[in-house]
Amino acid sequence: MEKSSVDADISGAFSGRFHDVEENLKSIRFSIGEAAIQSGRNPDDIILMAVTKTVPVEVINHALSLGVDYMGENRVQELNSKYESLSREGKHIHLIGHLQTNKVKQVVGKVEMIQSVDSTRVARAIASRSEELGIVTNVLVEVNIGKEENKSGILPESAYELICEISEFDGINVQGLMAIPPADCEIAQTIRYFDEIYKLFIDIGSKNTHNNSYTMKHLSMGMSADYAEAIKHGSTMVRVGTALFGRRNYSK
Ligand SMILES: *Cc1c(COP(=O)(O)O)cnc(C)c1O
Repeated sequence: MEKSSVDADISGAFSGRFHDVEENLKSIRFSIGEAAIQSGRNPDDIILMAVTKTVPVEVINHALSLGVDYMGENRVQELNSKYESLSREGKHIHLIGHLQTNKVKQVVGKVEMIQSVDSTRVARAIASRSEELGIVTNVLVEVNIGKEENKSGILPESAYELICEISEFDGINVQGLMAIPPADCEIAQTIRYFDEIYKLFIDIGSKNTHNNSYTMKHLSMGMSADYAEAIKHGSTMVRVGTALFGRRNYSK
């Protein structure tokens, strides 16, 4: 088959979803712009990350073709199954889900950033694999801002110490914080969590006076239900899945 008819077949099969993604993206961009302006920020300083778990690669590539430049996958295995088919040119692919040390080798070299670092052990593994490959992997430290049991992320009071320790490692570059506030809380409570994490982000940034080799450049917070509020409360990167791609279908 000629390439153009293959493309026509793909867009035929997905045309409904492609259209939805286009419409959703317009409204997300509008809301991001509005939230930024309302809080005296430049909309261009806010990164929109498409969260692509369960989303078929054709639909992801469509979003990327519309100018979404960042995408985040949760699971190493899912990322790897999609990786070769992604339109990766000029795009930023991050891992945003919990990473087990024994999976580090399968992901370092493929992603520009790992947003879910919460221990010295996993940071050391990422650093040494990166060194082996002669690259530097950017990382964010994930903070368990709600201090929830059974949730990944480091406790807020331990974040600074972890950052100081791991920022000494060659092979990684610590660039900020990521947080997922507890699900199902009232928006007012979510906002309190956003404020807490923002304060931590600023605090750690301001302690960076002794040539510590980290930067507090990214604060990754806010998802479909609350990204506008997250922007008003200091987020630099919102991670949006459902609002962009529709409800996830985990059964496939
Ligand atoms: C799934 C997921 C998101 C996106 O969630 P939505 O509510 O669908 O926007 C963001 N961040 C992480 C870490 C996720 O796992």
